[in-house]
Amino acid sequence: MPEITEGVYFIPGQDDFIPDSHVYVIGSSASHDLSIVDAGLMGKGGYKVGSIQKLGIKLEDVKRIIMTHTHLDHIGCLSEIREKIPHAELWVHADEAEPLENGDDRTVYGMDMFRSMCQSQYGLAPGAFTFNVDRKLQGGEALEIGAMQWEVLHVPGHSAGSIALYNREKKVLIPGDVVYADYAIGRFDLHRADGATLKDSLMRLGELDVNILLPGHNRVVKDLPEGYILSTARQWAPYLS
Ligand SMILES: [Zn+2]
Ligand SMILES: [Zn+2]
Repeated sequence: MPEITEGVYFIPGQDDFIPDSHVYVIGSSASHDLSIVDAGLMGKGGYKVGSIQKLGIKLEDVKRIIMTHTHLDHIGCLSEIREKIPHAELWVHADEAEPLENGDDRTVYGMDMFRSMCQSQYGLAPGAFTFNVDRKLQGGEALEIGAMQWEVLHVPGHSAGSIALYNREKKVLIPGDVVYADYAIGRFDLHRADGATLKDSLMRLGELDVNILLPGHNRVVKDLPEGYILSTARQWAPYLS
């Protein structure tokens, strides 16, 4: 099901020995103003761009890449994708944009042990994840992109600059790694993550009317039960303080 609903396309991640994030492409194809949400793991850029082209989308119509957050499994193949789509802007929440511009990769790797493991496994040089960010999101923006409306919500806790994208009309939520299907939530033990903050973010997402949940990993859900996010937040609340 590559087109989840009109103007929302799904390119599933291809997990390796570490996960590869899903990519979503948002925007009406007639608008010629499409956005890629997240990139994925190192080595997956060719597959992701090829999948976008197979959907009939012209790369010149892809105007920007919006990151839900900058963990390695989401940003790993950003350079590969930008090589193919060099004109695309990069939009990241300010809390992760500034470290990214300064070459501070603590959020990218999440923990020191993981940094040295991945650098040797994938041959990544120090500073490999230094990017200029074209637009620093704050949360609260009402984006008019691709002839659709997407609200930006700042939902920290899994990482400091996690955002969710919400389309109120179609009740579509793209929450990154904050909440998944099957009552799972993002981990909260990595750099600048925090359980209590994640709980607050989940409670705020729980107030939204969501029918289609498009997380960073695992299943997508097209007929989300009413109150799903709120009950997920409540189940996890005792562990999030
Ligand atoms: Zn993550
Ligand atoms: Zn992830």
